[in-house]
Amino acid sequence: MTALHDVATAATTVSEAVDETARQPYEYVRRELVEPDWRRFPGWRDVTEAQWRDAQWQRVHCVKNAKQLRAVMGDLLDESFYDDLLDDQRRLATMSMLLPPQMLNTMVPSAEGSFTSAFLADPIRRYMLPVASDRDPDWPNHPHSSRDSLHEAEMWVVEGLTHRYPTKVLAELLSTCPQYCGHCTRMDLVGNSTEQVDKHKLTLKPVDRQDRMIDYLRRTPGVRDVVVSGGDVANVPWHQLEAFLMRLLDIDTVRDIRLATKALAGLPQHWLQPKVVEGLERVARTAGRRGVNLAIHTHVNHAQSVTPLVAEAARTALEVGVRDVRNQGVLMRGVNATPDDLLDLCFALQGEANILPYYFYMCDMIPNAEHWRVAVWEAQQLQHGIMGYLPGYATPRIICDVPYVGKRWVHQLADYDRERGVSYWTKNYRTGIEHDDPDALSRRYPYYDPIATLPEAGQKWWRDYEAE
Ligand code: SF4
Repeated sequence: MTALHDVATAATTVSEAVDETARQPYEYVRRELVEPDWRRFPGWRDVTEAQWRDAQWQRVHCVKNAKQLRAVMGDLLDESFYDDLLDDQRRLATMSMLLPPQMLNTMVPSAEGSFTSAFLADPIRRYMLPVASDRDPDWPNHPHSSRDSLHEAEMWVVEGLTHRYPTKVLAELLSTCPQYCGHCTRMDLVGNSTEQVDKHKLTLKPVDRQDRMIDYLRRTPGVRDVVVSGGDVANVPWHQLEAFLMRLLDIDTVRDIRLATKALAGLPQHWLQPKVVEGLERVARTAGRRGVNLAIHTHVNHAQSVTPLVAEAARTALEVGVRDVRNQGVLMRGVNATPDDLLDLCFALQGEANILPYYFYMCDMIPNAEHWRVAVWEAQQLQHGIMGYLPGYATPRIICDVPYVGKRWVHQLADYDRERGVSYWTKNYRTGIEHDDPDALSRRYPYYDPIATLPEAGQKWWRDYEAE
């Protein structure tokens, strides 16, 4: 009797334990993609499906200022929102406003209660349309933040061509995009000047810049991988982009070409235009014949942005022969810095849109970005939190892009002062400006956590440092 009772009790305990362990920290549920109905916004009540799918209509109806936002929103947003927005534009914004309707339509796909509160809390709004109250009131800016925080322009071998890694280059063909992200790491160069930031300008004519880039790549056979970027390549007139890509494909030492375009998600209509699709097919066919890996790299930060049109644009690129469409998101507090948000996004990308979730970068140390940035230890926790749910090849790496070093996985640091929030990193190659630097490979390069994440002693240290 006693033995049987014990067995029964043990069985109950085990089954309770099973119930307990059955609850995973993240529960995967397949979700179909949805294009939010743009007609919920008063200004787009009469916009037809054909207009919505038209890239030109999208570009013409981009929202560039508060007045245009009001015209779309009608009386949905309280006056306080516009005050907050204008305050940010006056004092803090490093990027000007540019929102394609497609992108704006992914904000607050359905609202219950106050629309203004839902809009303020919306993850897409938080990085595409920042307001002053989003920013860190005490430390909007880290003392070591800087324009061009990755020092890309210092490493230009010709204007716009950054040679940072031994075998790869970044070719910035232009300095505009169809959409401007509040956290843009190239805030130094990309977009229109803001009240706070006088943007640098590319000075060469595009054709001259492209000639010099091609010439450098012909003379430098050790470079095998070219990221063709900007800005966003969706703003390069297609015939120019195609001509440049064909010239790249003529260089037999170039083996990887990656086209960087957030527009695949922000303005998928661009990548669905017949002239672009046909041109992409010609480029992909040539790349295939020459054994070159042609890929598209996009930049999606939240599952809300992954809509059927985005999936259609990605699928179309794959159908015409692009080898891969990959996502490089940016990790930002208030946008996606939880395991659930990252996993929801990755499953939407990988499972529903054929976009490989590849990287999440920690938000770079540009001015006024402290409210978005997370500490290295938080990024490590997030990396831990997302392991094991996705296929291994589709499990993104969280990356810290350390100034003068380059991309490092967040667990690769050499040392970490948690009190002051300073991590130290090393590297195994020289960047383009260090060929005669004997210490480049033994030096430890610092990276700084946001001060608000530090213990009080660390915060005090920085207050004293600033007061000196
Ligand atoms: S799309 Fe890329 S380059 Fe353009 S503003 Fe956004 S982050 Fe910057």
